[in-house]
Amino acid sequence: GPEGLEGPETPIQVVLRVRPMSAAELRRGEQSALHCSGTRTLQVSPPGGGPDVAFRFGAVLDGARSQEDVFRACGVRRLGELALRGFSCTVFTFGQTGSGKTYTLTGPPPQGEGVPVPPNLAGIMQRTFAWLLDRVQHLGAPVTLRASYLEIYNEQVRDLLSLGSARPLPVRWNKTRGFYVEQLRVVEFGSLGALMELLQMGLSRRRSSAHTLNQASSRSHALLTLYISRQTSPSSPDPPAPQMPPADPGEPPVGGKLCFVDLAGSEKVAATGSRGELMLEANSINRSLLALGHCISLLLDPQRKQSHIPFRDSKLTKLLADSLGGRGLTLMVACVSPSAQCLPETLSTLRYASRAQ
Ligand code: ADP
Ligand code: MG
Repeated sequence: GPEGLEGPETPIQVVLRVRPMSAAELRRGEQSALHCSGTRTLQVSPPGGGPDVAFRFGAVLDGARSQEDVFRACGVRRLGELALRGFSCTVFTFGQTGSGKTYTLTGPPPQGEGVPVPPNLAGIMQRTFAWLLDRVQHLGAPVTLRASYLEIYNEQVRDLLSLGSARPLPVRWNKTRGFYVEQLRVVEFGSLGALMELLQMGLSRRRSSAHTLNQASSRSHALLTLYISRQTSPSSPDPPAPQMPPADPGEPPVGGKLCFVDLAGSEKVAATGSRGELMLEANSINRSLLALGHCISLLLDPQRKQSHIPFRDSKLTKLLADSLGGRGLTLMVACVSPSAQCLPETLSTLRYASRAQ
């Protein structure tokens, strides 16, 4: 395409975003340990001197790049086009707490209740929503759009859009739907405004839930999924996607999916010395992130036809199985702080992200 990622087709594409130094990092006089050279290479200078280490990604975006730059460089529109054709696509952000994952997906936190994010600071999600609604309006065929928004905390799934209680919901599997969350509220919407309201509802619930007040919001994964069912007529100029299975009567229609995942912080939670429930959290988070890393490395193994991919190892990998496992495309945006103080965590993010491509 005219913009976005190029290069050989791989099921997982990785973009690296380095956020600007924060006011606090600057106040503490911290130095940057990272330098972008070119558009795809990151140079890491070890603080004690010694040779730089280079990491290459599909794209490397430094702190000067705007939200619009990031949206373009990520090629999310291509994922959207695939989702319209029946594929399952996922965008996820990965990195330590404070590295810019939530900012990259949804922009900065609101300045007050009901205050919208300024358009220039809107994240990948709002930009993709606007693009998709516009695209759907210009399609010849009718399209049904629905959304769900959930959080995985302690390996328990909670519905961020539920009208009733927020009790944990089970993840099930069947032949037609693959893995799905039972009784999850899936809301049909017809306008950008209605979708933005769903996003706001989920974001504010995420911010106000009990564990957020315990400053553990960074320990949950949040998944917003768009379900796209497109009825293609025989005279339609676009052929139906070959991957689209025929719908079973009595089952909800199967179409494309576009999933946005704000992952839990990748730092080692065990280092906080937490016990009891917090240890359970740490294990659960590590389980999901480790399972994700494990599935990704097996998927990229050239021998993968023989190997079994353990999607069942965590709730996260179950729910991402279709986009990771053949019927889709996955984009990982790895987020890091430039500060030398964060270097140990940054290096572990860079290694995780390098392994994924
Ligand atoms: P995470 O979700 O990874 O914990 P956040 O997205 O909350 O991190 O980012 C941490 C802080 O840095 C927030 O105050 C956020 O608004 C700010 N921030 C992150 N990325 C950027 C950026 N590219 N430009 C300006 N501020 C940013
Ligand atoms: Mg966050």
